[in-house]
This record gives sequence, structure tokens and C-alpha cells, in this order.
Amino acid sequence: MEMTQGLKNRGRTREDVDDRRRAVENFTGEKLPTIANCPFDPQLAEKNIENMIGITSIPLGFVGPLLVQGNEAKGEFLVPLATTEGALVASVNRGSSVITAAGGATTMVVKDEMTRGPVFRARDLRHASEAAEWIELNMDKIRAAAEATTRRGKLLSATPYIVGRSLFLRFSYSTSDAMGMNMATIASEAASRLIEEHTGVTMISVSGNMCVDKKPSALNALAGRGKTVLADVTIPRELLEKRMHTSPEAVVETCYRKCNIGSALSASLGFNAHVANMLAAVYIATGQDPAQVAEGSMGMTTAELVGGDLYMSVRLPAIEVGTVGGGTRLPAQREALAMIDCLGDGKAVKFAEIIGAIVLAGELSTLCAQSAGQLGEAHARLGR
Ligand code: NAP
Repeated sequence: MEMTQGLKNRGRTREDVDDRRRAVENFTGEKLPTIANCPFDPQLAEKNIENMIGITSIPLGFVGPLLVQGNEAKGEFLVPLATTEGALVASVNRGSSVITAAGGATTMVVKDEMTRGPVFRARDLRHASEAAEWIELNMDKIRAAAEATTRRGKLLSATPYIVGRSLFLRFSYSTSDAMGMNMATIASEAASRLIEEHTGVTMISVSGNMCVDKKPSALNALAGRGKTVLADVTIPRELLEKRMHTSPEAVVETCYRKCNIGSALSASLGFNAHVANMLAAVYIATGQDPAQVAEGSMGMTTAELVGGDLYMSVRLPAIEVGTVGGGTRLPAQREALAMIDCLGDGKAVKFAEIIGAIVLAGELSTLCAQSAGQLGEAHARLGR
């Protein structure tokens, strides 16, 4: 009975949270003193959680100074990483110090579009095709309907895909500094209602899995989702040998056999060492949606020998991040974003560029460690 009352109560005052947690404690017979210890007013999490009973904590470390030569991120940064994987921060920090010593990582955002892909049911193929034609001819009206729901969101395109009686539309939006998933969903619903009204197709789901949200997909790997981020660095041979105890040739071969052949053989969509590791740690630290590591993990890492030195790059097609909205409203996450001067308006591209550099640092360090046979030793020493 008490439990039911606790779950029904949607309030988020500290008293509401305490009452609800006590109901959980009574139901489970487990005391939850650490979870109880929320250091901020729970009402700040009003838009982030339901049935709130307290707080969970994840250790936070930093990596840096990391020198970034981006279009918007310029200079040295101390980057916050939240993780429970011992050795991760030490490893990324090692890569970061070598990148900084080499003159920094060049990084840029080359595409910036959030997508939502509703699916409609038509009467038959002819009807689906006529609806797609109406959409193409009436983009102005569709754009107006979508953009009436948001001040910052802009509808950029709507690409149709037809399978029998199913009509998929992949809407692409500019979402300014928000990651944009709520924004794109609300706008797409409004646009889809207009399409239903004028064409007679029925929207079955605002998300028809052509978005593609929180799942790895070849579509996002190629077309991108959120920000497509590129980064590269050249590490002089002597620096690599001295600091990483390996050679450019060994790193290039490790990357080729692991990230290229191994990933192809396993039909992976990520051709990299551990992009997901850096993304998860930054996303959790800064209030991003950690489930979007699923598509973020599809990065491609390359290594080449250039003039005897090591050239490395990463291509990250689906970095879905924001510096406003979502989990960036929470106090610790705001502080973490502030550490890299990426909180609020006008900072999302800069933030994505820093993410490109930190991913490159993690890829460099792990490929070096594996090429020198050090990976197990580092985890045994630092993580066990
Ligand atoms: P949001 O917090 O829902 O919306 C961002 C808000 O910030 C908008 O109201 C926007 O207003 C406002 N805003 C103020 N300054 C802005 C600026 N400089 N740039 C952009 N917007 C600005 O966040 P969201 O990014 O759209 O969605 C992120 C959330 O969606 C996360 O919590 C994530 O977990 C969740 N999510 C939702 C779905 C879904 O299907 N709905 C799927 C995955 C994740 P205007 O819109 O008026 O411009």
C-alpha cells in the first residue's frame, strides 16, 4: 500500500523523494542511506527523472591538459570523465599528454543534423508514392508546422523511403545547442499530423527506426546523426617511442589488423579500439544521454605512417550532444561542462570538437598499449 502511494506521487520536493524512498525501503527491506544523500534540490531534476528516490554517484576524474586545435575549441582543456573502469582515465590521460606534446589535435564538426524518422501506413504502394510526392511539393507548409513548436529548431530536410505500404520519412533538423531529440520529436509529430491530414496516410509511430536513435546502424554511420566529428594528429616517431614505448609501424599494424580486418570480419559498425569508452565517460560526466553511446560507438579510427611519424585520425559520425537541455540542467553536470567552458548557448560545436580530441587520445593510447603488449598489465595494475 505504502509502495503504491510512493510510486503514484510524482512530486519532487525533498520530502516527496524521502517519502518515496522510505516506501521502497519498506518494500525491499533494504536501507538506502547513500542513495538518500542527494546534494542538490531534487526539483532541479524535475525534467530528468520520475519516481525519484535519491542519487547515484559515479567517480569523476579529469584528463589533460589536452591541446585542441579546433574551429571553435582552441587551447588546453581539462576534460571531465565519469567512469568505474579503472585504467581508463590514466590511459586517456597518457594519450592526451602525447597529443599535447605533439602540438594538439585538429578537430572539426562537418555535419550537424538531428533526425527523427516517423513511419506512416498508406493504402498501397501508389498511395505511399503520392504522399511522398505531396511531401516534396509542400515542404514549406511542413517546415512551418514543425518550426511552430520550437524557437531554435529548424527543419532542414525530409527524405522519404517506401517499403510496400510503409512510408518512412527521415526528418533532419538543426537544433542549435540542444542535442535535440525532444525538440525533433515534438516538431516531427506536428509535421506528421499535417501530412496525415493532407495525404490520408496514418502515422504509426513518430519513430520508425529510420531516425536511428539509440541503435547502431549503417544509415547513421554513413549519413551521420547529431554531429559528425573529425579529428587528427601526427605524433613524431621519437615522441611516440619515448612516451609510448612503441613504434609508428607497430601502431599502424595493430590498427590495420584490429580496427580494419577484425572489425570487418566481425561485421562491426565501429572500426575502432574503444570509442564507446570515452563517449560514455564524457556523456555521463556532462549530462548527455548515455544510451546514445550506442550509435556514437560507430567511429572509424585510422593510423598511417607519414614521413616516418604516426598519423592518426578518428571519424565520429553520430555525436549527439548538447550544452543546453536534457541532463545539462543538473548541477554536477553543469559544473563539468563549465570546466571546459562548454555550458549554455553557443557551445555545442566547441563541445563536440573537444569530444573528438578526447576520443582520439583514448584511441591513440589503447592502440599504443596493445601494440606494445601492455593492455592487460595496465588493467591488472590499475583496475584490479
Ligand atoms: P530539451 O531539454 O527537451 O529541449 C531543449 C530546450 O532548450 C528547448 O526547449 C529549447 O527551446 C531550449 N533552448 C534554449 N536555448 C537553446 C539553445 N541555445 N539551443 C537550443 N535549444 C535551446 O532537450 P533536447 O535536446 O530537445 O532533448 C534532449 C533530451 O531528450 C534528453 O533528456 C534525452 O534523454 C531525451 N531524449 C528524448 C527522446 C524522445 O524521443 N523524445 C529520445 C532520446 C532522448 P526551443 O525548442 O523553443 O527552441
